[in-house]
Amino acid sequence: MFSGSCLCGAVAFEAESPSEFRYCHCSRCRKSRGSAFAANMFVRVGDFRWLRGEDQVSKFRMPNTQRFGNWFCRVCGSPVPREVPALNVILIPAGSLDDDPGVRPGYHIFVNSKAAWEELSDALPRHSEYPN
Ligand SMILES: [Zn+2]
Ligand SMILES: [Zn+2]
Repeated sequence: MFSGSCLCGAVAFEAESPSEFRYCHCSRCRKSRGSAFAANMFVRVGDFRWLRGEDQVSKFRMPNTQRFGNWFCRVCGSPVPREVPALNVILIPAGSLDDDPGVRPGYHIFVNSKAAWEELSDALPRHSEYPN
C-alpha cells in the first residue's frame, strides 16, 4: 500500500498493486501537468481509495475525447488521481505520491508528440504512440 496527496494536503488517497507505470509525452498530458511529460500509474478501481478530500476534487472531462480528463484539487490546483471508466482503472499522477510505490516506469509513449525542447536520456523503450 502506498499513499499520495495534493500540494495543500486537502486531498489524500492510498492505492496498491499498480498494473502500469509509464511516461506519456502527448500534448494533453503535457498541458494538464504543465510539464514535459506525465508519469502515469494505473491501478484497478478496487485497489484505490480516497483518504480525505474527495469532495474537494474538481473533475474536468475533455470534450470530444473517449477518456481524457483532468481531476485536480479545487484548493491548490494540483492534479489528483482520476477514474478512467472505459478501462475500469484509476490513473494516478505519480508526482502526487508520498511513498515509494516499489515499481518503476517501464516505457515512454507518444514520444512523437514530445516537446521540441525535451531531451530523452534514459534507456527505456520508446513508443511513437501507444504500444502495439
Ligand atoms: Zn490541494
Ligand atoms: Zn498522454
